[in-house]
Amino acid sequence: MKARPTIFWHRRDLRFPDNAGLYRALKAGGPVLPIFIFDQEILRKLEDPRDARVTFIHRSVTELAEAYRSMGSDLRVYYGKPLEVWAGIVKDLQPRAVYTNRDYEPYARERDGAVEALLEKAGATFHHYKDHLIFEGKEVQKNDGGPYTVYTPFWNKWRERLKSRMSTFEGKEISYYLKPYPNEKYAKNLLPVAKPGKIISLQEMGFEPARTDFPPTEVSRKLIQHYDETRDFPGTEGTSRLGVHFRHGTISIREKARRAQGLNETYLKELVWRDFYSNILQHFPYVVEGPFREEYAAIPWENNEDHFAAWCAGRTGVPLVDAGMRQLNATGYMHNRVRMIVASYLTKHLLINWQWGEHYFAKKLLDFELASNNGGWQWAASCGTDAQPYFRIFNYESQQKKFDPDFTYVKAWVPEFGTPEYPSEPLVEHKFGRERALEVYKKALAEAKRG
Ligand SMILES: Cc1cc2nc3c(=O)[nH]c(=O)nc-3n(C[C@H](O)[C@H](O)[C@H](O)COP(=O)(O)OP(=O)(O)OC[C@H]3O[C@@H](n4cnc5c(N)ncnc54)[C@H](O)[C@@H]3O)c2cc1C
Repeated sequence: MKARPTIFWHRRDLRFPDNAGLYRALKAGGPVLPIFIFDQEILRKLEDPRDARVTFIHRSVTELAEAYRSMGSDLRVYYGKPLEVWAGIVKDLQPRAVYTNRDYEPYARERDGAVEALLEKAGATFHHYKDHLIFEGKEVQKNDGGPYTVYTPFWNKWRERLKSRMSTFEGKEISYYLKPYPNEKYAKNLLPVAKPGKIISLQEMGFEPARTDFPPTEVSRKLIQHYDETRDFPGTEGTSRLGVHFRHGTISIREKARRAQGLNETYLKELVWRDFYSNILQHFPYVVEGPFREEYAAIPWENNEDHFAAWCAGRTGVPLVDAGMRQLNATGYMHNRVRMIVASYLTKHLLINWQWGEHYFAKKLLDFELASNNGGWQWAASCGTDAQPYFRIFNYESQQKKFDPDFTYVKAWVPEFGTPEYPSEPLVEHKFGRERALEVYKKALAEAKRG
């Protein structure tokens, strides 16, 4: 009788090297068969057949399969509803154990719970590991045991924890938590596969190939060294553009954090925002549905649909907002400073529910990550953890002067800027918008407090 295989299930970790769960599966002995499932439950909700994220995932899965083939194995690729796919796998392969890396989103947790139950019934064990983050769940907590809801103390404790257990790598002392998993050492435990399987095409799943000029996985040392000086200027190439790779695990967070250490603390701190927002989602999953500070649910949004359409299309008459939205629509990317400005304009000046903006970003961002997007939006609307106070409202004109003084970014995305074709007045002007937002927020919060 053939040995029952161990299965490794790739999800948001589309790489072989330095992969925590895969390492554990290989080290346990094997033979290990790696798999990936194109999840119909997720794909059917995507409206755009040219969604670049599906192209990105398809390309990454194809590259991963090639990597396995070069090691004499293969990545088996399925397409379907995860539970049904797993019922088929259990029947066909009778796995002994299934290994994977943790995904903290509510949908994923529910799915994994159901898969675990199904496997248990079939006599297979389910093992999951931390790989997507440096610290998860209860690893960075307040002294009294509760979760942090403010970033700076989270970061301080995070750093303390990082240093609390040291190890060595390539002759240097490094944090145990950043040590890479040497998967290559156990590649011999992969299931040998003589004939590579077929990978379903984008078209067979109802999609079309989209643009493929995805950012590289490597960033120059110089960029990271100068990150704190360049990161706020959208007209320059001053950030790493690694978001999409962190999202899908085509790079290892440990590797990038290790490199950032010693080079630029500001960059490391940005990576830690990812951990922070994921921790918020893990501890307060209700943020997916509504504000972290529940009293903010009382804000009577204007929700003017024409204003929303103008914001989406980059036709608000505020140059930075329009440039940002057009960059997003054209490339699936928007610079972080500009994300903050467009989100502030939508929620404060236009008084449109932050969730409308959140959903629009979720549809468009190549680096869309539920926890970070939700956190970013709640921050801008002042209803989240560690959010800016509601009375601090971005002045888009001073932001322009400070961060894009020569209009380099604006001109790159709004070619008609400075011509009579560009609106002479913004949809909602700063002074009026600011005062209205202050009044509406103040009143709603006071009423919510009175109950
Ligand atoms: C309204 C709003 C929505 C956002 N939505 C997302 C999202 O869906 N996905 C996403 O990854 N980030 C999101 N961010 C955070 C941030 O804008 C992006 O991570 C960043 O712009 C990605 O570009 P980069 O890779 O060049 O970042 P860099 O500046 O090079 O930073 C490196 C990495 O650090 C992490 N990071 C940096 N800033 C943040 C932050 N504030 N919160 C969480 N992680 C951070 C990201 O993984 C990023 O790739 C959002 C911010 C705002 C204000």
